[in-house]
Amino acid sequence: MSHMTHYIDGRFVEDRSAERIPVTNPATGEEIAAVPEASAGLVDAAVQAARRAQANWAEVPPIERAGYIHAIAAKIRERVDLLAETISREQGKVLPLARGEVLGMAGLMDYMAEWARRIEGEILPSDRRGETIYINRVPVGVVAGILPWNFPFYLIGRKLAPALVAGNTIVIKPSEETPLNAFLFAEIADEVGLPKGVFNLVSGRGRAAGAALSGHPGIDLVSFTGSVPTGIAIMEAAARNLTRVNLELGGKAPAIVLKDADLDLAVEAICASRIVNTGQVCNCAERIFVERPVAEAFTERFVRRMAEVRYGDPLAGQELDMGPLVNAVQLGKVEAMVDRARTAGAEIALGGRRADRPQGYHYEPTVLTGCTPDMEIMRKEIFGPVAPIAVVEDADEAVRHANDTEYGLTSSLYTRDLNMAMRVTRRLQFGETYINRENGEAYQGFHAGRKKSGIGGADGKHGFYEYMETQAVYIQHG
Ligand code: NAD
Repeated sequence: MSHMTHYIDGRFVEDRSAERIPVTNPATGEEIAAVPEASAGLVDAAVQAARRAQANWAEVPPIERAGYIHAIAAKIRERVDLLAETISREQGKVLPLARGEVLGMAGLMDYMAEWARRIEGEILPSDRRGETIYINRVPVGVVAGILPWNFPFYLIGRKLAPALVAGNTIVIKPSEETPLNAFLFAEIADEVGLPKGVFNLVSGRGRAAGAALSGHPGIDLVSFTGSVPTGIAIMEAAARNLTRVNLELGGKAPAIVLKDADLDLAVEAICASRIVNTGQVCNCAERIFVERPVAEAFTERFVRRMAEVRYGDPLAGQELDMGPLVNAVQLGKVEAMVDRARTAGAEIALGGRRADRPQGYHYEPTVLTGCTPDMEIMRKEIFGPVAPIAVVEDADEAVRHANDTEYGLTSSLYTRDLNMAMRVTRRLQFGETYINRENGEAYQGFHAGRKKSGIGGADGKHGFYEYMETQAVYIQHG
């Protein structure tokens, strides 16, 4: 990697006086880089550059804007190995998943670019003679994209592609845990010759660079993905300027297994949803409600399947299902939550402790049984490979507990009864419901959280239009 620094106004900007933030490989605990903390002045320079570039960028025909996005996607595919290894090293996900993240992001960029010729307005009949009214869609202006560490590269594309195709410019701040893949992205954006100021990158911590960005009066939309407390802090900072927010926050996805479910399918899909990215995914199955008649059979098969999960250092050469947790704080948090669940009466059917490895932040695949809906482990986001199971008497009870949460992002349901599936789905208060399959969204869907899981959403037509405003035009003519 040649540039490990901010990218502002079409230039890589070194700031030798800046404080450095260490970046760690979570599989080994080793420091692998030290990256700069952007000052408030540099954040301001990035926002000003984006502002200066925006009007001209909005004049570029959408199909040409989309051309840059396709060009970036093509270069990303050429560099998939380097990008995947970088993500794996700084974030800890296994290589096939890191490759999937990179290629999936390139695919999302191409998908969003296809919206260039599909932006639509409306023509309305007027109450007056000789008047035409139309509603046009126009860019929001300057977008701030503030990113989490769990799918750091995918999230760059998820925010940048719709923002730029719609005619906005953007300032991205990656997570301080996982900035290295973003520097590689900046090199690619530079190579395709995006007009200067259209894409800017500032490296830094949340409470400094992130806060400066979300409270900056030059930002028109803060598009944030991360935790609920940070989402609230960002909304408060944005409120001072009445800046719009798009918030993709945490989740506590219920997986409901009814008595007529295909148990093999349910076991496989819920296990996949629980261990992907070591359980650090916002839409992961975070709690399981299983109907009593199949509770024993499901639990026995699920524990057996989770016991087969292979974990370790993603770059050590073996084939693995999951890597470490992202850092020591996350490991400590998962460990403490499981300990408190045990004290509250949950039984450890599998795992329940940090892995016996000399280094890194590894936690064993864990299954907890005998959980009750009031336990913290069933209510708070775990973000680790821990599956708590509660037994319910019927679908009604499952739905009641599933909805009794402050989150509303994702949910899943396993049943062979179509009528039951439709009835339950209508009552689930979540932005997404997966029926008889693992959790995971499509480009053309709409990934949006209800309650404290967020405001607005991403992907598809609805996600694209979050980056546009409407303008109503009244033309009085003869
Ligand atoms: P986080 O909230 O700790 O940090 C996210 C980003 O916000 C980082 O870039 C951080 O530097 C920045 N930040 C922190 N404090 C800030 C402040 N005061 N002002 C401005 N920026 C600030 O989240 P995380 O730990 O990186 O990510 C994990 C969380 O993200 C989980 O809760 C997960 O559920 C959620 N997540 C949600 C989605 C979704 O689509 N809904 C997707 C991925 C992750």
